[in-house]
Amino acid sequence: MTLPFTLLIDPVPADSTRTDFAETFHEMESTAPALRVGELSTQRGDGIFETLSVVNGHPQEVEPHISRLRNSAEICELPVPNAAQWRAAIAYAVDRIPSEGELALKFVLSRGVESGPAPTAWLHATAAPDYRAVRERGVRVVTLDRGYPRGVAEQAPWLLMGAKTLSYAINMAAIREARRRGADDTIFTTHDGYVMEGPTSSVIIRSGGVYVTPAPSGAILHGTTQQSVFEYLEGAGEKTEYRDVTVEELRHAGSVWLVSSVRLAVAVTAIDDQPCRTDVDLTRSLNAYLLARTA
Ligand code: PLP
Repeated sequence: MTLPFTLLIDPVPADSTRTDFAETFHEMESTAPALRVGELSTQRGDGIFETLSVVNGHPQEVEPHISRLRNSAEICELPVPNAAQWRAAIAYAVDRIPSEGELALKFVLSRGVESGPAPTAWLHATAAPDYRAVRERGVRVVTLDRGYPRGVAEQAPWLLMGAKTLSYAINMAAIREARRRGADDTIFTTHDGYVMEGPTSSVIIRSGGVYVTPAPSGAILHGTTQQSVFEYLEGAGEKTEYRDVTVEELRHAGSVWLVSSVRLAVAVTAIDDQPCRTDVDLTRSLNAYLLARTA
């Protein structure tokens, strides 16, 4: 029942009929050495990951996270993860970590060691940062050019745009750039003026009374939190839509949110120093809904 909690996993093939995975899990001290120096995840960022939230003992959106991990594996030509094994690994971890509070559970599949026997996989659970204040206060954002045109995923699939790879150096640099400009976070745009996503979040806007998110057509991740938010809004009788959003439309939107698994929903209070309207009550309702999910 202590944190951090670390589990090394021997990945089994996707088509394995095995149902008991206990022998493939190896609990270890989080501070002990675990990876070989030749690991391609650390040498080249060559691997994929997911981070899901565990709230009061409930891991959230397990299936969407596993299915996105499998999609990332396909894009990166990594062995496709065995969904049952990952489900079991998450359940194994959840049984051994505190059943109260907000936790972040990260799971990683790396290409392993060059010419090594198999991919490497692990799962790591930590206490989530305390995001209560930012959920109330919101974030100031800057728009930053991601340097690619719309349609990049089809034109250059080797850029692995729709995969959640471990190569987050650019995403972190974009957040540092936002801070240099006096903001908290970033919204990436295409070179030709379309909204993409945040470096660690999806973008939702309210435009003409409809809740819109950029279509996850391969260049951005299909956010699990965004999908939950749309379910909530649709259940409340609101209209939702996946489509292209221009930077112009973003600037004139009624409200804008960044949503992600652990920070959840935060209102955007300014875009490139121009104040945005925020809907405090809806942001609170979204977060109450997201925190109350039991699966
Ligand atoms: N887009 C990017 C680039 C991300 O890194 C993340 C989350 O880390 C998201 C979107 C939001 O995804 P999710 O809601 O599944 O956390």
